[in-house]
Amino acid sequence: MNAPAMITTTGQKIATQRTTKSRLPETDLDQIKFGRVFSDHMFVMDYADGEWQQPRIVPFANLEMSPAALVLHYSQTIFEGLKAYRNVNGGVSLIRPQANIARMNHSTRRMCMPTIPEDAFLDGLIELVKLDQEWIPKDEGASLHIRPFMFATDEYIGVRPSDGYRFIIFTCPVRNYYSEPVRVKIETTYSRAFPGGTGETKCGGNYGGGLYPAKLGQDQGFHQLLWTDGLSHKYIEESGTMNVFFNIDGTLITPALDGTILRGITRDSIIRIAQDEGIRVEERQVSVEEIESAARNGRLRSAFGAGTAATIAHIQSIAFDGAVYDLPDVSTRELANRGKEAR
Ligand SMILES: *Cc1c(COP(=O)(O)O)cnc(C)c1O
Repeated sequence: MNAPAMITTTGQKIATQRTTKSRLPETDLDQIKFGRVFSDHMFVMDYADGEWQQPRIVPFANLEMSPAALVLHYSQTIFEGLKAYRNVNGGVSLIRPQANIARMNHSTRRMCMPTIPEDAFLDGLIELVKLDQEWIPKDEGASLHIRPFMFATDEYIGVRPSDGYRFIIFTCPVRNYYSEPVRVKIETTYSRAFPGGTGETKCGGNYGGGLYPAKLGQDQGFHQLLWTDGLSHKYIEESGTMNVFFNIDGTLITPALDGTILRGITRDSIIRIAQDEGIRVEERQVSVEEIESAARNGRLRSAFGAGTAATIAHIQSIAFDGAVYDLPDVSTRELANRGKEAR
């Protein structure tokens, strides 16, 4: 990703309005479902008259907007997902937030949206997480999912970039997303992305378009799809919200970033950790045929998806063209398990 030219700060202090009634006492952090429980506050910053307005932290609450708001019709909206967790010293760590900020600003350009000042973004993130840190579950494998997003607010139904935007960050305490190993299907009819499209942009439309093929797969008993390239359907791209890795004969292989694949930060961390550990890593085209033949010959030792929400999701079986290939038992998977520990 090219380093974006950034306005580094709005230079404005965050105005904070605390909730008068925390929902934490009535929330059982041990019993939460992914993405359904939200912490007390959110960070909000509006873009109007060509500039970012005063950032603020307010109680998490519903939004009010015009039914004609541009975002509701043409999906001019982008998001990010990152994590905070309790580290071994009892403090709070954010995982590579600058990488998410850079990626979000990469998305802003593709979607004709204003760049978010890096300092204001990071300050807001830190202030918000500090304020709601009691919401971070303390046990292993649980964390605080952080959801920054931005959308077009103009009240107008013509197709054009909005003049006004709202940038929000909220957080949710989460437990592991997929606890069980997943069954995936290689998708060769529908496409998530194509050259020149928005595949490497974390924009709303990408996910809306993926729902129907994913639903068809779920009806057949698959948790997730493995998308293939939109032109030939011969090369593996990624999964729903995860990049994908294959261990063939001890080499870790992942599809190269070609503009249609989301530039996963977890993907990047895994590549670095694996290389540090002396594991051979290849970023290149991965054909469906190669995976199928490796699975058939027993050379495909493991496969896993990698993303902030799922961390590492072991793949139990891969279906293609009516055949289902079962992969070796998860407990024997050395590479992926080590990655999971290193998170
Ligand atoms: C967010 C996302 C990923 C994973 O990215 P991380 O930065 O690792 O969370 C992978 N693929 C898609 C399509 C995504 O939306």
